[in-house]
Amino acid sequence: MNTFLNSNSHGKKMVDKVFKAAVACNEAKKIYGDVVVDATLGTLFDEDGVFVAFDSVWGIYDTIDKIQKAKYASSIQGNPEFRLSVYNWLFGDLDENINCEIIATPGGAGAISSTMKNVLSVGETVIKPSQGWGPYNTMAAEFGLNITSYNMFKGNSFDIEDFKTVLTDIMNKEGKVLVIINDPCHNPTGYTLSEDEWDDIIEFSNLLSKQGPVIILNDIAYVDYNIKGNSWKQGFKRFNKLTENVMVVIAFSTSKTMTAYGARTGAQIVITKDQKQLEMFKDAGIYSARSIWSTVNNSAMRLFSEIMDNEENKNAFLKEKQYYVDLLKERSDIFVNEAIECGLPIYPYKEGFFVTVRIF
Ligand code: PLP
Repeated sequence: MNTFLNSNSHGKKMVDKVFKAAVACNEAKKIYGDVVVDATLGTLFDEDGVFVAFDSVWGIYDTIDKIQKAKYASSIQGNPEFRLSVYNWLFGDLDENINCEIIATPGGAGAISSTMKNVLSVGETVIKPSQGWGPYNTMAAEFGLNITSYNMFKGNSFDIEDFKTVLTDIMNKEGKVLVIINDPCHNPTGYTLSEDEWDDIIEFSNLLSKQGPVIILNDIAYVDYNIKGNSWKQGFKRFNKLTENVMVVIAFSTSKTMTAYGARTGAQIVITKDQKQLEMFKDAGIYSARSIWSTVNNSAMRLFSEIMDNEENKNAFLKEKQYYVDLLKERSDIFVNEAIECGLPIYPYKEGFFVTVRIF
């Protein structure tokens, strides 16, 4: 074919439906005014419709020295202090150690795409939830991967049977499974799995891993907006129950946690009992980082550490964030109750930014 693009990139065109809907929504607002409700993007707005940027975050950013803002990160894997801060933020309150490696990434998106790239070979299949974040599809396509879905819901609960069927099918065909679980505060339904549902997933993954490697990609982009707060993170101990042939990659993002979407900072937290595989995964992740984005934003990594490792800063941040967690709860209570009253069908909602209307 006579084209500047290679055969993989020929015809590639990004059509982001969410951003398109956001633009359409803004246009509609100009015509119809207040009756238009813009619920298109996973970003937080206050009661006056103004984008929320936490004072407890961006005030600290202003105190960071310009040299630190200008500098490269100190390591391709991510600044050591940042990696430690991420460990403590997620696992600091647990009474068990989590055996993991942490690799800084440009946001949760970097963590998810690097995992897809390094876990599956061209032509293999990523498994995602039936309702899910659109870029999972784009990322899979970028790496020449197929994508299939497990059904999220049976009634008002997680459809564990379909989850098992889809994973077993792919394991039988391909000898390996990479499955995305976006929990808690699932985008776009706001569902959070119960402890029992997670137990079933862990038990089944252990069983399935007798046939081949199982990789669970736990996308926790909205973890810090769950109602239980830090105590939800106790659930991470479940990953210590996984057997040797299961690996978990947690995709963490500071985008929502710190209202730092543009700072493009996050991490892969890789957990497995198989020490050799853990090392190899880390090395592959660092290699991909160097070859695709190089290093992660130095000042945003420092910012995260400055907040999380300083009691005063952390408390101010937690207080400010809690205000918005409560506000989201208040908003969602109003929406869910009114949906019930007027018979508007929605998917089972528990918490977080999103709620989705069932249209079929
Ligand atoms: N996962 C989900 C479900 C999301 O909604 C988002 C952002 O909207 C992300 C991951 C990644 O976001 P970022 O790359 O900004 O961290």
